[in-house]
Amino acid sequence: MTTLNLEHIFKKYPSATQYAVEDFNIDIKDKEFIVFVGPSGCGKSTTLRMVAGLEDITEGTLRINDKVMNDVAPKDRDIAMVFQNYALYPHMTVFDNMAFGLKLRKFDKAEIKRRVEEAAEILGLTNLLDRKPADLSGGQRQRVAMGRAIVRDAKVFLMDEPLSNLDAKLRVSMRAEIAKLHRRIGSTTIYVTHDQTEAMTLADRIVIMSSSPNADNSGTVGKVEQI
Ligand code: ADP
Ligand code: ADP
Repeated sequence: MTTLNLEHIFKKYPSATQYAVEDFNIDIKDKEFIVFVGPSGCGKSTTLRMVAGLEDITEGTLRINDKVMNDVAPKDRDIAMVFQNYALYPHMTVFDNMAFGLKLRKFDKAEIKRRVEEAAEILGLTNLLDRKPADLSGGQRQRVAMGRAIVRDAKVFLMDEPLSNLDAKLRVSMRAEIAKLHRRIGSTTIYVTHDQTEAMTLADRIVIMSSSPNADNSGTVGKVEQI
């Protein structure tokens, strides 16, 4: 059971004159698949990164299961994140890329092996565990990035434009895989995309973030509507 609550969240980067995120509010239910859509620069990534703990929250409160998380270190948040550029370690094998977050958290070797092999099986990576990222296709790299997140068995799953580097055909098939994965693992999920079809297909609920019409190019974000 995992709920996520963002209350009056603001973000201003030190170098910026305007807020990147301004008074963002949302309650996310257990196992809900939320999709953020909106134009480039409206604060989608920043919001995800604040939830993950990769950016400080300037103002406002983030809660997971009613516990305030603002000052909790990323590795202690029980959140897994998939990035647009996959962020794989080039010198490590697929196995070690997937195992990395578990090693960091001091899981024992047998448990790491069990989890990595299970995730590899789910994602069709079993025969690729000894390869390096450079020897994989785009779709396979994307699966490794997802595998690295699902081995964590995290309560909250964050995906920042995970499919946007793939070609159109692969995007459609990976979209179906993500839907299937969510039905199987059921983590409370926030998914960022600017692809409306992707949003409509995957979401339990879509949050439309929009840039403020008065914003200059250095800053952004005003309103959030929920539909
Ligand atoms: P989106 O994910 O919707 O494209 P971002 O969250 O990346 O939007 O960016 C929101 C705003 O914050 C943009 O105006 C962007 O230029 C600014 N921004 C993002 N990252 C930084 C940063 N590290 N330093 C300063 N400004 C940033
Ligand atoms: P370390 O980085 O701690 O030296 P290793 O990279 O040698 O660890 O491997 C950690 C564990 O993962 C070992 O138990 C190893 O047998 C297992 N392992 C590594 N690669 C694979 C793989 N491709 N398939 C299954 N198990 C693997």
